[in-house]
Amino acid sequence: MTQVTSLGYPRLGENREWKKLIESYWAGNITQEELFDQGKALRTDFLKKQEAAGLDLIPVGDFSFYDHILDLSLQFNIIPERLADRSNDIDLYFTIARGDKENVASALKKWFNTNYHYIVPEWENVTPRLTNTRLLDLYIEAKDLVGDKAKPVITGPITYVALSNGVTDVAAAVDSLVPLYATIFKQLTEAGATYIQVDEPIFVTDEGAAYLDLAKTVYTQLTTAVPEAKIIFQTYFEALIDAEKLAELPVAAFGLDFVHGLEENLAAVQSGLFKDKEVFAGVVDGRNVWAADFVATTDLLKEIQKNVANLLVQPSCSLLHVPVTTKNETDLDPVLLKGLSFADEKLAEIKLLAENLDGITNPQFAEHVADFEALQAADFRNVDLEDLENVPVKRQTDFAERRRIQQERLKLPALPTTTIGSFPQSPEVRSTRLKWKRGDITDAAYENFINAEIERWIRIQEDLDLDVLVHGEFERVDMVEFFGQKLAGFTTTKLGWVQSYGSRAVKPPIIYGDVQHIQPLTVKETVYAQSLTDRPVKGMLTGPITITNWSFERTDISRADLFNQIGLAIKDEIALLEEAGIAIIQVDEAALREGLPLRKAKQKAYLDDSVHAFRIATSSVEDRTQIHTHMCYSNFDEIIDSIRELDADVISIETSRSHGELIAAFETAVYPLGIGLGVYDIHSPRVPSKPEIIENIERPLQNLALEQFWVNPDCGLKTRREPETVAALKVMVEATKDVRKSLSL
Ligand code: GLN
Ligand code: ZN
Repeated sequence: MTQVTSLGYPRLGENREWKKLIESYWAGNITQEELFDQGKALRTDFLKKQEAAGLDLIPVGDFSFYDHILDLSLQFNIIPERLADRSNDIDLYFTIARGDKENVASALKKWFNTNYHYIVPEWENVTPRLTNTRLLDLYIEAKDLVGDKAKPVITGPITYVALSNGVTDVAAAVDSLVPLYATIFKQLTEAGATYIQVDEPIFVTDEGAAYLDLAKTVYTQLTTAVPEAKIIFQTYFEALIDAEKLAELPVAAFGLDFVHGLEENLAAVQSGLFKDKEVFAGVVDGRNVWAADFVATTDLLKEIQKNVANLLVQPSCSLLHVPVTTKNETDLDPVLLKGLSFADEKLAEIKLLAENLDGITNPQFAEHVADFEALQAADFRNVDLEDLENVPVKRQTDFAERRRIQQERLKLPALPTTTIGSFPQSPEVRSTRLKWKRGDITDAAYENFINAEIERWIRIQEDLDLDVLVHGEFERVDMVEFFGQKLAGFTTTKLGWVQSYGSRAVKPPIIYGDVQHIQPLTVKETVYAQSLTDRPVKGMLTGPITITNWSFERTDISRADLFNQIGLAIKDEIALLEEAGIAIIQVDEAALREGLPLRKAKQKAYLDDSVHAFRIATSSVEDRTQIHTHMCYSNFDEIIDSIRELDADVISIETSRSHGELIAAFETAVYPLGIGLGVYDIHSPRVPSKPEIIENIERPLQNLALEQFWVNPDCGLKTRREPETVAALKVMVEATKDVRKSLSL
């Protein structure tokens, strides 16, 4: 019998019970005991569900009250120095994660290329030791419920250290943890565990290449110290960085991702590297919401099986990255619904695949194949889209001439001032939107409310004397969902939440069909705003790459094709705005950089595809239309060439927290187009002082040409409150006027 397993189950719960639990503890509404009891109830439910799905090995220890890396930090006594004298308990845990009045929180960082964020361990002046028996306790609890099926899961020492801050010597830090891991493994095997899943995803990254020898040492030590433990060396999100070397590790099994990194991992298996090993084959995509292609996956499984000592079937990674179940999504088109697969459905798929491999006939297998085919054949996946051949991907005129033409039209002062797009979404904005969604107020009443808010802010911006105004984005909850609701090919779900960080969850739209512009997206609000003022109002769109990266995307077409489809839709919207007389249009690409593939070797293709799609969206405009873009980060070193190739007339970026570091990347020679360097940090309510802003304008002006430079905050102002926003913008405009004066402009 082919065995099936999984790597981790979503924590959130079907109705986000987990989020509610933790937040009610934070709010002081439940006691610590209640938190722990209800946490246990959730774990029990998750275990039982996975057992019912037929898993032979069920992950244990994947549950967390915030983040699995933070769990390890507390267990290993890797506590931030500023909190070292606090007692090591759940309240310290939440303080590290969230900060308190006296202490800043530890940094959050993206978990590889996912949208999950972990708490970065801080190694300054720490003495690693075991402070608790967390994983053992969880194992004993699980064993009571599911017996020998319980499989402990832990992040491995090399990945843990590689993801930490403040480590000066990786090998030494890892070395200090090895005895702790050995103790944990020993405790687990004594309690009855056999397999232990040790996650080492750092070994799919370029950085992992530096730790190959270290891996050999560490895993030899661990297998020698605890020979009873059957260690699964688990990686995901890409292929092994060096399969030849890693296959030599003396571990019992390898967990490999055959969805992301399929080609390389399959080639490694076919070359016989794993012929004496057990291979836990990740063949069902744990990162996306689509039902697996059973025909292709069965072929793949057979091919792997031929080349390894024993095959187990599992998802490509933890199911943390997908929503819990499709069963509540009853509003969706039935063809689409049957083609979707969230965590619970993925577990069922794995079981069906394994049974089929063993020759067991289950009618559900054939049904699944038929559903999959129906989705591919659906009309919404086979739309005749505009022929890309006829779409320009280059502006008619080069940027210097464009700048002249645009300036003739816009007549902006030197150092023009503007904002990034959104203004504060007051409690009133949010509650009115909610009322409208619930049907408590009419469409017309809602539109009137939004228009009143737009008008109020146009007046505020005029009073502030900003040069380029925005409508404020009050009609949008979110810069992707809003577009998803209006473009064909997108849908949103009722309960398709995934954890982003801590108790924060997001509900990404699903791109399920060919994307098409079928109605105006932003014209009404933008044109209304422009009708209220003589100053230029900047139209505000989200770009194709960001829309894709923050959605669950289709995988039946290439990413490049998907980017291009969305690029075309945005092009159509830009044409409408242009026709309506909007002179400046901003296409935000907030998520361009975070979508970079893990491996350097794959980054160029991604960036080229991104640039191409952005240019599909933005190249058809007239010379006199000014295209802006915005990105929420300043670390551009690796991607500066691609940013240049976007050929946006103006880019605004976040800089105030990087203290001028990025200026190097933006020397005039390299980047000749318009740049708005964020002159103050919008992440805090603090109102900046005039001298600070003046400095943030004058410093970069030493390297950048005056006619390039724009003045704006770091990012959108949606999450700020109105008083501090107006106060900060006032300082920004006054500082700009002072600089203009001092330069006698
Ligand atoms: N235009 C968007 C806003 O201002 C940009 C947000 C972002 O960059 N994340 O909210
Ligand atoms: Zn931003």
